[in-house]
Amino acid sequence: MTLTREYAQQLDKEDDLQSFRDEFYVQEDVVYLDGNSLGLLSKRAEKSLLSILESWKKYGIDGWTSGEYPWFYLSETLGSKMAPLVGAKPNEVIVSGSTTVNMHQLVSTFYQPEGKKTKILADELNFPSDIYVLQSQLKLKGYDPSEHLIRVKSLDGNTLCEDDIIEQMTDEVALIVLPSVLYRSGQILNMKRLTEEAHKRNILIGFDLCHSIGSIPHALDEWDVDFAFWCTYKHLNGGPGSVAALYVNEKHFGKTPGLAGWFSSHKEKQFDMEHTLTPALDAGAYQIGTPHILSVAPLIGSLEIFEEAGIEKIRKKSLQLTQFMIDLIKQELNEYGFTFGNPLEDEKRGGHIFLEHQEAARICKALKDAGVIPDFRAPNGIRLAPVALYNTFEEVWRTVQILKDIMKNEQYKKYENKREVVA
Ligand SMILES: *Cc1c(COP(=O)(O)O)cnc(C)c1O
Repeated sequence: MTLTREYAQQLDKEDDLQSFRDEFYVQEDVVYLDGNSLGLLSKRAEKSLLSILESWKKYGIDGWTSGEYPWFYLSETLGSKMAPLVGAKPNEVIVSGSTTVNMHQLVSTFYQPEGKKTKILADELNFPSDIYVLQSQLKLKGYDPSEHLIRVKSLDGNTLCEDDIIEQMTDEVALIVLPSVLYRSGQILNMKRLTEEAHKRNILIGFDLCHSIGSIPHALDEWDVDFAFWCTYKHLNGGPGSVAALYVNEKHFGKTPGLAGWFSSHKEKQFDMEHTLTPALDAGAYQIGTPHILSVAPLIGSLEIFEEAGIEKIRKKSLQLTQFMIDLIKQELNEYGFTFGNPLEDEKRGGHIFLEHQEAARICKALKDAGVIPDFRAPNGIRLAPVALYNTFEEVWRTVQILKDIMKNEQYKKYENKREVVA
């Protein structure tokens, strides 16, 4: 069967999430495929941000406890709204900090080396920030990262094999931190299996959900994951630098936060201003300082959209979109030297496609000039993320046609094969 524009239009007609596209500021002449780096602004996120500004205007300091969304409770309120996206109870999730800061918080809380168990297990494909956190946490506890940080190797440079990870879960390992979805290849790791295997060996395990939150469903409670953390500006569309979130399994409630601050307090006690901290009895204990209210605000509106659309439907459409893209690329581009760096199976494929090509950097520049927004990942990768809430099947079709044109006419040769500062 040939995949035509008409077929794409037919898929758009049958799409039961199509009405959500109107909720977003999409530019009709641009195909935005970078929602896994920075999601688009929705009208509801804009409205909730304006509403928070309004409460500052109107209430001043009393905005902490007055208005539609009292700021003092916003981190907890939004944490409970986010909980269904990760399969958690409302008080196991708190909106706070940034991915990197939350990871520092959780690793400093859960990494408790003892006797022979001193090592941290991670992987060689993870995002640099995550590795820097582990290296610095090891140093803070007096260990040499070159000896105590184990990074599981990838055989193909793009994906990890769960058996290899499990093999490295030795009795020297105290803690494991892995991504749920790899940021380059989009591979989904089997969190359930990895958690089971870690716990069999008495090892704590946490996941970085940056590339899965808002894109695939999770069941952190059911899988018995110890902790997790994620950003909110990728698939959750919270805006540049929007406040992140974290999950702590309720069985760990009461564990002293590694990095304490006055917002770690039990909320009733916080304003007693005592020099002895009484931590919150839930995930709230892992907050540190005053929440960044203006950067939390867009999430109020954005999370409403997720509640209405439902993560199961989002995942279903996302898989259809990426499958359609894969099929079209195979049909239209097979003579141009692209290879797929992402897993092709549904259960291992996250929300984006990872195309590899030696000319990737300048192909991305040519795509941008032709109105398609991808992102480049050094040295040779093009990430394309068709997002269920605002991208269409027809846009996927258009993207592949544009890419074919660029390759056929060698338009990419007009550009230098080098990345920009922000790629
Ligand atoms: C996006 C991302 C980050 C970014 O962390 P920030 O603290 O928000 O800068 C970290 N780790 C992974 C895996 C990511 O995908």
